[in-house]
Amino acid sequence: MKAEVVIIGAGVVGAHAAFQLAERGVTGVLVDPGPPGGEQAASYGNAAWLSSHSVLPPASPGVWRQVPGWLADPMGPLRIRPGHLPRAAGWLWRYLASASTEEKLRKTAAALRTLLAAAPQRHAEVAGRAGLPDLIDANSGLMHVYPDRSGFEAEALAWRIRSELGIVHEEIEGAELAQRQPDLAPGYRFGIFVPEAGQCLNPGAYCAGLIAHSIARGWRHVAARATGFHEKAGRLVAVRTTQGDIACDAAVIASGARSAALARQSGDRVPLEAERGYHVMVEGGGNLPGPRSSIMVGDRKVVISRLENGIRVAGQVEIADVDAAPDWRRAEILRKHLAEVFPGLDVGEARVWLGSRPSTPDGLPVIGQARLGGVIHAFGHGHVGLVGSARTGELVAQLVTGEAPGIDLAPFAAARFA
Ligand SMILES: Cc1cc2nc3c(=O)[nH]c(=O)nc-3n(C[C@H](O)[C@H](O)[C@H](O)COP(=O)(O)OP(=O)(O)OC[C@H]3O[C@@H](n4cnc5c(N)ncnc54)[C@H](O)[C@@H]3O)c2cc1C
Repeated sequence: MKAEVVIIGAGVVGAHAAFQLAERGVTGVLVDPGPPGGEQAASYGNAAWLSSHSVLPPASPGVWRQVPGWLADPMGPLRIRPGHLPRAAGWLWRYLASASTEEKLRKTAAALRTLLAAAPQRHAEVAGRAGLPDLIDANSGLMHVYPDRSGFEAEALAWRIRSELGIVHEEIEGAELAQRQPDLAPGYRFGIFVPEAGQCLNPGAYCAGLIAHSIARGWRHVAARATGFHEKAGRLVAVRTTQGDIACDAAVIASGARSAALARQSGDRVPLEAERGYHVMVEGGGNLPGPRSSIMVGDRKVVISRLENGIRVAGQVEIADVDAAPDWRRAEILRKHLAEVFPGLDVGEARVWLGSRPSTPDGLPVIGQARLGGVIHAFGHGHVGLVGSARTGELVAQLVTGEAPGIDLAPFAAARFA
């Protein structure tokens, strides 16, 4: 088989890369053993936030002091599987170290902002062109809620850095919060609204729809796993897959949490962990009790979103091998949070899901040319892969076609880990 471009991974990053290449008249093959936008991808079950303000890395200065408490709390947001600790220790150390000072946070935030700015509008534009306009709400805004102002004040540094980058937030108190989120438990009395953010209404359908659109324009999906590359004189000539070689001029590594092995074969060592997360989904229509605009619940570290097909609570960070069996007790924690935050919602019947955030220790994705000529990295988006996918897809297309990338890619280079 021969293709102009092979994209390895049909999650939302691969989907946007294919879309942008198709827009430029470039066709190719998407290789993924699973269906595009299927449940195997993190892109299927995320919290649907197009949070252009999510510019802070997940760690923060002094966060290590909170880690023992989170690990000890049976309802806590973090778990590290003991058997996986020896393998993850180096990554965890870098994770904490890369957010240990305000200066480091500001540097990461400035870089992420270049990737995420205007993301809701970018997604809306792409969705419109792909015939999926109803799946993106670029004007919803997003809300963070707290029992009281002190929860917000505990995150003051993050909000200050966002303000410095021009991100506007509005405070909502007491009666106004109750009026804007009438189903919310009365224990929540303070909120922050971010008007510039938006949301997706069905992340799996969005991803599948984008890829269907590219397939209609000449792309193919091959149900196979990529296993490596063939090269000649330091340049890619083919992608090896479980269904045979695909000769090509360019390949894109967009395989989410499984990208590190392929990156290594392209000459780059990237520390990548699966930050596994869960969701619980109560299916139903628009009359289900729940958030009006989607919310982050500050004290519980969960996001609750209203999607086109129901109410979804998503969260938890479980550091474990990407192939380890799910621990559905983590989903039960989410279900309990959902019931307590929206007491009017019947959470008895719900679907549960596990997915892996592809996470680098510094909270920045890896985007750019690999050491092996012809291979392009587009992975490691951690907590911001949905919101960051539209710009990433455009950057990939620019790299493939030789256009100047729209932003400085230096902060995203794999070489930062060398
Ligand atoms: C609980 C949870 C909530 C989240 N909430 C949000 C949110 O609200 N907003 C946001 O922006 N982000 C969120 N994220 C993060 C976001 O979902 C991910 O960053 C994003 O989906 C990553 O997309 P991807 O395309 O890189 O990887 P994936 O979606 O994981 O797709 C990778 C694909 O590559 C395929 N693949 C793997 N290895 C190979 C191989 N060797 N050959 C071929 N194919 C391969 C896989 O089968 C998979 O389909 C959340 C994540 C989780 C888990």
